[in-house]
Amino acid sequence: MIQRLVDDIKSSKTTARAAVESALAKARENDGFHALLSLTDERALVRADEIDARVKTSEDAGRLAGVPFIAKDNMLAYGAPTTAAAKILENFEAPFQAEAIERLEAEGAICIGKSNLDSFAHGGSTENSAYGPTKNPRDETRVPGGSSGGSAAAVALGIVPFALGTDTGGSIRQPASFTGVVGMKPTYGAVSRYGVVAMASSTDCIGPIARTAQDAMLVLDVMSGRDAKDATTLPDFFAPTTLDKSLKIGLIKEWMSEGVDESVRAGVSQAIEQLKSNGHTVEEVSLPTLKYALGVYYIVVPAEIASNLARYDGVRYGNAQPANSLGELYANTRAYGFMPENQRRIMIGNYVLSSGYYDAYYRKAQQVRTIIINEFSSVLGDYDLLIGPVAPTPAFKLGENTADPLKMYLADIMTVPASLAGLPAVSVPIQAGDLPIGLQVIGRQQADATVLALAAQLQEEA
Ligand code: GLN
Repeated sequence: MIQRLVDDIKSSKTTARAAVESALAKARENDGFHALLSLTDERALVRADEIDARVKTSEDAGRLAGVPFIAKDNMLAYGAPTTAAAKILENFEAPFQAEAIERLEAEGAICIGKSNLDSFAHGGSTENSAYGPTKNPRDETRVPGGSSGGSAAAVALGIVPFALGTDTGGSIRQPASFTGVVGMKPTYGAVSRYGVVAMASSTDCIGPIARTAQDAMLVLDVMSGRDAKDATTLPDFFAPTTLDKSLKIGLIKEWMSEGVDESVRAGVSQAIEQLKSNGHTVEEVSLPTLKYALGVYYIVVPAEIASNLARYDGVRYGNAQPANSLGELYANTRAYGFMPENQRRIMIGNYVLSSGYYDAYYRKAQQVRTIIINEFSSVLGDYDLLIGPVAPTPAFKLGENTADPLKMYLADIMTVPASLAGLPAVSVPIQAGDLPIGLQVIGRQQADATVLALAAQLQEEA
């Protein structure tokens, strides 16, 4: 789809301006879903004209010439504030752009706006946004998932062919699964995190949300690669590919148990049939330590959050609140600017890092994390890819889980393992019942292309 738009723009069948104007019009028409927090229309139209001028003079307009996209509002971008959907960053104008956005723009893509999210990406429903929730385009009474709910909704609504999300524990995959689009969390370090509001630095990843795996491949190809400004980035290893052989695929047995919604199991079983008819082998495989992943995640991640969010003190960043002393300034600013879920995680994080509890919680969690990583690498020695659901249920109702943080955390049970191990994982849409669900495909580190190639093959057949 993206390739076709690029070809049409390059051959003057249409223009970048027309593509951007139509995306902006669709964004406005669908305002009621609240997928977006801001539009960067002025800058986007200027850029569109630049691309069209290049096409006219036969200059290379780039691999993504004139393709409009949306960035999650925890990525620094020109042309609109970067709020991370938090009051503490209300009206914050970024002094530079995220490297991922820079790379897309260098190839001619055009950022037209910023999408809604759970404040600081803490959540799985977009209901923790300080600016109000996003509605699911497939059913307005339901959440679009999160935390990249606005990006997923924008793609599902057809506003843009792709949007950027961030995934620390499932925030690209789970909203993709809830809204019926493709969401790819690359290998940790595939895409530079420079210019992205940090959540948990040891699992934060940037990735594409698109309608097809093919599109996700193109976008990832452009964004990925080594960046001197982010020491955790890997040398460029990604190259789009197609599958030319049958694979040995492991179905994660623990994720098909009775606690998992019937429609989710039915969707996965349907996908398994398709995989088999494509000549792949699918076998059940057990990963017994995955049951500890959620516990590990909700210790390690809050610890990193507590540390990363310490910088929002009302002095260096943010909406300073009136106060009579420095202590009061911190307290008032942070009480005003952070949502309850942000505050909960800061408190849990500081608790598990505190001197009396560090060994019992944080150190122990890191040790168990290593066991999980080792279990994945041993199983991925025998299997090319692993599959399972993305989430135990399809999209839930708005407000259904807001009163119960533990219930919200439990919804992350199938996405956090790949995050802890830094593995590439995609959500491929499957329509089994009334609501879409996602098939999760997990690969070895740096096997992102194989993961996406299988997703593309599944979509071709669908
Ligand atoms: N839902 C998960 C959480 O709340 C994942 C969030 C994310 O990936 N940013 O932590």
